Amino acid sequence: MSGAGAISAFRERFGGSEDTDALVSLINVAFRPEQVAIEGDRINAEKLQPLFSEGRFILLEDHQGLAGCVYAEVRGKRGYVGLLSLRPALHGRGLGRRLMALADRAGARVLGAYEWGLGDKTKKANAALAGIGGTRRILVSDTMLAEYSDDEIEVVLAHEIAHHVHGDIWKGIVFESALLVLGFYLASVVLRAAAAPAGLLGVDDVAGLPLLMLAAGAVSVVMVPVAHAMSRAFERSADRFALNLTRNPNAFISAMRRLAAQNLAEEHPSRVVQWLFYSHPPIRDRIAAAQAFRAG
Ligand SMILES: [Zn+2]
Repeated sequence: MSGAGAISAFRERFGGSEDTDALVSLINVAFRPEQVAIEGDRINAEKLQPLFSEGRFILLEDHQGLAGCVYAEVRGKRGYVGLLSLRPALHGRGLGRRLMALADRAGARVLGAYEWGLGDKTKKANAALAGIGGTRRILVSDTMLAEYSDDEIEVVLAHEIAHHVHGDIWKGIVFESALLVLGFYLASVVLRAAAAPAGLLGVDDVAGLPLLMLAAGAVSVVMVPVAHAMSRAFERSADRFALNLTRNPNAFISAMRRLAAQNLAEEHPSRVVQWLFYSHPPIRDRIAAAQAFRAG
């Protein structure tokens, strides 16, 4: 997981019949490799039309327009997911297929990999698992697609799949919610204790709001390192999973070196800096773990 911004880079919405033309051309372009076996186009407006009432199209858009789509339909007691289509930039490299093969090996069903447009905003490279339930997807930044080797991208995808297989998004949501409740509780304890000495009428006195903010701030200073420590544990286990799945520590190490150089990561952060700011283990530690894996 690479944090906030992953979901907002793409706008998602449900498709309607007004999207027919854009969908037909995207799906046909995306499925072109199959046309060795299939005569003609994968789909046309007539075949697409009934799907708008039978199921739902989820569309992903970026500044260039329609970037991807997937179709979901409930058939009896089962869900059907199909017509996963991506802009050709992602397909041409065989990444979609490679990803689905990885997902199979991992026993996970991942909706798809999507190109994540960062190039015009930053030189940083990134990949992320985003969404929950039916909107789950793996995002790979265009900056990463352009500069990383396929082996390196595969190992990064495997890392993101690990987050999916381990249910890290859900664990994170539950953990952070629990922290939030605990934080509010502690803040209320502080407020109750401080109300009388501070000359407030009670805990519900509006004049106590600054005190509440102060207490909440103090609590979060303590809680954030706890959340980061959990996140780093998730990341270490996702790295182990990626190494086991790909058996390619060399690609892992070179991907880490690229990430560090591109994202200007500090290779030797101090302990305190780690506690306060690091949701991922330092690159040096991640590389050391891969070297240990390589050594067997
Ligand atoms: Zn991660």
